[in-house]
Amino acid sequence: MPATKFICPDGSSVTVLKCLNKCPRIERCMFLPTLRAVAAALDRKLPKATVTELLCGTRETYLKQTTEYAVNPQQQLYALHGTAVHTINEAHTEGNMLSEERLADEITSGQFDLYGQIADYDDATLGDFKVTSSYKLMRALGYYKVDMLTGEVYKTGARKGQPKTRKEWRIDGVKHLLDWAIQLNYYRMLLEARGFKVDSMKIQALCRDYNLRIASERNISKPAYIIPINKISDRWVKLYVSEKAKRLQAALDNNALPPVCTAKERWHDRKCLGYCAVAENCPYGRMLKEKIQVKAA
Ligand code: SF4
Ligand code: SF4
Repeated sequence: MPATKFICPDGSSVTVLKCLNKCPRIERCMFLPTLRAVAAALDRKLPKATVTELLCGTRETYLKQTTEYAVNPQQQLYALHGTAVHTINEAHTEGNMLSEERLADEITSGQFDLYGQIADYDDATLGDFKVTSSYKLMRALGYYKVDMLTGEVYKTGARKGQPKTRKEWRIDGVKHLLDWAIQLNYYRMLLEARGFKVDSMKIQALCRDYNLRIASERNISKPAYIIPINKISDRWVKLYVSEKAKRLQAALDNNALPPVCTAKERWHDRKCLGYCAVAENCPYGRMLKEKIQVKAA
């Protein structure tokens, strides 16, 4: 079931249809074509859950497929930015490239962004665009800070005599990008099953807040980064995705709400509190929001 309502800037909601026909507020919060583009992007018509949908929490995907929900169209703009980046690139792909093809197998489907000579003229790279935050980028790149001794000691105060340290960046940490890696590896498998050789996988990540101070505090200094993705074994990727597809299908067949998304899937509750479109339809999401309201009262 697609999102059926838009949330206006004043917090009230209105059906997408009504919004597109005539804005009932004092003035439109965005241009009509932008709102139409948001509505079109939300209106999925695919018979099966995609790889990206399966990588979300099963409960979230189940609720998106079975319940009506409302989205704030302004918060969908970054997703549209992603689509715009695809379109810009699509106009410049040449003979040895494929772009935005949807491929399917018996489990799911996925639409890769670019494949072919996108990194060089002599290899076949599978590429994906991401528009993301400096926080996610810092984690995906494996950046972390360590305390380094300065050689000085505190001369006064509670820490008198203790060594002074300063923070230094390291770039060899664990790369938190498993979901991106599974997604690209699944696309790789779909391509290889059709006889296309994939030499490497890469993500071109655009940082949406790179010019803010918070981004430089996270060691993010460029608007775009290329992130190589390692190969994961076909067997593991297929097992993981098919298990998630099975869980979703079982819930749909039995009309049964799946268990709460895992802590990782719900970003340790941050997603439930601010970024999950179906939080109002999820008992766990509602419970968290009520708790916050009680605390604030
Ligand atoms: S244009 Fe914006 S303010 Fe007007 S109904 Fe649509 S979402 Fe609400
Ligand atoms: S509110 Fe949280 S637990 Fe519920 S569907 Fe959304 S992410 Fe999952």
